[in-house]
Amino acid sequence: MTATEIRGVGVGRLVATGPLIRMPEPLPEPARDERHDGDAAAEKARVAAAFAAVGADLTARAAQAGGEGAAVLEAAAMMAQDPMLADDVNRRIDGGTGAERAVFEGFASFQDQLTALGGYLAERATDLADVAQRIIAHLRGVAAPGVPSSPTPFILVARDLAPADTALLDLTKVLGLVTSDGGPTSHTAILARSKSIPAIVGATGVLDLADGTALVLDAEAGVVTVAPSAEQIAEAQRRIAERAAQAAAPITDGALADGTKVPLLANVGSPADGAEAVALGAEGVGLFRTEFLFLGENDAPSVESQQTQYTELLRHFPGKKVVVRVLDAGADKPLAFLNDAHEENPALGLRGLRALRASEQVLRDQLTALKGAQDATDADLWVMAPMVADEHETAYFVDYARGLGLHTVGVMAEVPSLAVLADQVLQVADFVSVGTNDLTQYTLAADRMLGSVASYQDPWHPAVLRLVKLLGDAGAATGKPVGICGEAAADPQLAVVLVGLGATTLSMTPAALADVRAELAAVTLGQARARAAAALAAPGAAEAREAARLA
Ligand code: PEP
Ligand code: MG
Repeated sequence: MTATEIRGVGVGRLVATGPLIRMPEPLPEPARDERHDGDAAAEKARVAAAFAAVGADLTARAAQAGGEGAAVLEAAAMMAQDPMLADDVNRRIDGGTGAERAVFEGFASFQDQLTALGGYLAERATDLADVAQRIIAHLRGVAAPGVPSSPTPFILVARDLAPADTALLDLTKVLGLVTSDGGPTSHTAILARSKSIPAIVGATGVLDLADGTALVLDAEAGVVTVAPSAEQIAEAQRRIAERAAQAAAPITDGALADGTKVPLLANVGSPADGAEAVALGAEGVGLFRTEFLFLGENDAPSVESQQTQYTELLRHFPGKKVVVRVLDAGADKPLAFLNDAHEENPALGLRGLRALRASEQVLRDQLTALKGAQDATDADLWVMAPMVADEHETAYFVDYARGLGLHTVGVMAEVPSLAVLADQVLQVADFVSVGTNDLTQYTLAADRMLGSVASYQDPWHPAVLRLVKLLGDAGAATGKPVGICGEAAADPQLAVVLVGLGATTLSMTPAALADVRAELAAVTLGQARARAAAALAAPGAAEAREAARLA
């Protein structure tokens, strides 16, 4: 058999090679006409016992998993204990539906509601399907579908992994992950990134492969090679060894070959992420996404509870910079209590700073809590606002935050207008931080959540790079920092180009720090600028990537 290739979306840049094992298919759907024998009370008792058993099992797995996996499993356990879901299922049983079908339908209807909300909540819909499968398996008295085990290492192939599976992966056995479904923000992708597991998602066709088939998984290229040649396997093994050597390299501060400092910072989503960021050598935090405190809540959390969480994160970074972004609600992060109006184009709607201005008390409370955390710790706290359009909005946020006692106040460059007006913006802001995910979406007019336009979401596009250059130039002219905190900073080749365009710090998921550190150490500022100039002159993203490589 000669090698064939299956394409998908790579998560990170790692490589793996080995035989595949497929995840068992989910349980068959309970029959549509399943009815119970008339004893609704007994049927409900069976369901209540199954809900409780699955909830307890997930809680126990959470305790075993620790870290991010624990949070994911605890959330799933909470779903299994949700009284609204149990009520819905009981109503169906009262109507005569059998237990398994009632669970299936109750969860499916809840899942539809989440999917309709879109964005982050839609991604969580998969978690719900997994909990339903577990409850149905319990009712049937069969084993819950889960990660297969093997005495020897393997690449796990699945439709999409559920949180309960990903959280418990035995990393000594699972060399890599390939899924046929799921996007770059699915659980498979999130956990693969945080645990540095090579992964490719959305690889259509991979489920047709037989167990034991040899694969090479190249996440950087987004390619799964089926039945690779001996040379392809040897090349993959060389890259795996190279990467292992890089990861084992001593952790140093970020710097170019000529000694130019480029502080490497971490993107974090909760205070608990702080420890891992420090362990992987983050010199501070470049983006603390504070949405985790608000998502799923009906009201904003109190000043006191927010202050506790912010203080917990800041304590990991004494004397170091921690950039906290105020709440970024709307579009891919919907929050009903800030904006529940139907919007045709939520990405262009009342989101980010716009939504906070419309509910100023939420902003005031958050900044007050941050000021409290600033006073309670030795960290160097910086605050910034998302989705800022121009100097007027910058001045509003800077004045508001300074008025509440925050020392260092900046804005994110995500809307192209802000980059175009960078010289004006940096007259009033203390710094800017470029959110390349949104800056790319708005520059190319392509919704970052929409698979059909995913090819536009490429921060290598010279139009995006030219906007970064405007920001870099304005930073140099005013002597103010220009950080990068979007995903682009985690791409080592692009990180070099961004420094060449004038970025002064790079912030990324902690797992990417080692690769970026190694790449920066191999180039001088002059070389970085030459690569940036080559990329700026290219007509498209692919050409920019190639031009930078050859420069
Ligand atoms: C960005 O837009 O690049 C960014 C860092 O913010 P988020 O991904 O949270 O929108
Ligand atoms: Mg953003």
